[in-house]
Amino acid sequence: TSVFSNVQTAPSIEVFALTEQFKKDSNPNKVNLTVGAYRTEECKPWVLPVVKTVEAQLAADDTLDKEYLPVTGLPDFCASAVAVCFGEGHPVLLSQRADGIQALGGTGALRLGYDFLRCILGRDTIYVSKPTWGNHKGIAQQCGYPNVREYRYWLASGRCLDEQGMLEDLTAAPEGSVIVLHGVAHNPTGCDPTPEQWEKILAVIKQRNLFPLIDLAYQGFASGDLDRDGRVPRLFADHNMEFFVAQSFSKNFGLYNERVGNLAIVTQSAEITGRVKSQVRNIIRKTWSNPPSHGARVVATVLRNPALAAEWRENIKRMAERIVLMRQMLFQKLRALGTPGNWQHITDQIGMFSYTGLSAAQAEYLRTNYAIYIMSDGRINMSGLTSKTVDRVAQAMHEAVTK
Ligand code: PLP
Repeated sequence: TSVFSNVQTAPSIEVFALTEQFKKDSNPNKVNLTVGAYRTEECKPWVLPVVKTVEAQLAADDTLDKEYLPVTGLPDFCASAVAVCFGEGHPVLLSQRADGIQALGGTGALRLGYDFLRCILGRDTIYVSKPTWGNHKGIAQQCGYPNVREYRYWLASGRCLDEQGMLEDLTAAPEGSVIVLHGVAHNPTGCDPTPEQWEKILAVIKQRNLFPLIDLAYQGFASGDLDRDGRVPRLFADHNMEFFVAQSFSKNFGLYNERVGNLAIVTQSAEITGRVKSQVRNIIRKTWSNPPSHGARVVATVLRNPALAAEWRENIKRMAERIVLMRQMLFQKLRALGTPGNWQHITDQIGMFSYTGLSAAQAEYLRTNYAIYIMSDGRINMSGLTSKTVDRVAQAMHEAVTK
């Protein structure tokens, strides 16, 4: 008998399982609204024009080689990534209290942050929002956190933030707990705290001595403006907090499969930041040893060149604007159909996703009757819609709700 005979098949990963099923679906009008990747008006993946320009430059550059990068990544990339997060010239950058470490996407940055807090600081309790991105809890379990908990976040009845519930749960969290926060464009709800609510959240975190880990996977995607979407890490920095930010360049650079992320570390002094960085460096050495160079070179080249950086900002704006347009079109269509319910949340929510409020049964109805694929929690990727498909999707939603 095999040594593996008792190994059970692991549960499937919903988002990828649905995408596989979608690929096999023969319906010519099929629509995939599951995976969190941007699509153009032609429903195609988009390689950003600025990325293509830089990739051509890099391909022609004979000075580049395939030597190992430093364990903590390409220095130019790390420096420019933290500058995107906090804004050029921010005091945490000038004082060198903030520094960056290249990671394998936002996921890798979260993993490094979690690992450091668990293994080096011995933190045993971590809180994620309820609901949250499907991987937040799993990474914590993989890192061996004994206590993986949730704080209340979404108030289904009001389709808004459960401010009171969130503040109560944070207040009750044991001192030193790690609190994972979505820096902008909460996934899956598309609902962020207001600036006033952020002030309250920050005050509890400070008072209760909790450790904030800000997941910044969608900077630029909510408002189309990197600075506006960077307000939360800047608020924490302005309050002299110590915290981590897990940055992803998958979405805002469209570099999904290049695995470009950064763990930004902010502490009380440049000297402490250096010590923390050295420990994270040794975690990397024992995990993936060295990061890949291509995506980081693309990002660093763009960010180090003002003309290219301006072009990138325009590319982001274009993606964010198309998503807002799709929100408006879907909302208007549901209104025109007289679909029962208040669909205002579709235009109120921000970022790539809409948390429609459709049930798992309604999601299945869309899939089996219309070949429209959405997540079972009702989350849809707004950029998966186009002006050609939005009517059919609205019609199907209408039927799913009224049948
Ligand atoms: N955090 C959130 C909230 C996300 O939605 C995602 C990706 O979907 C990530 C992190 C991870 O991004 P990456 O693909 O860069 O690992």
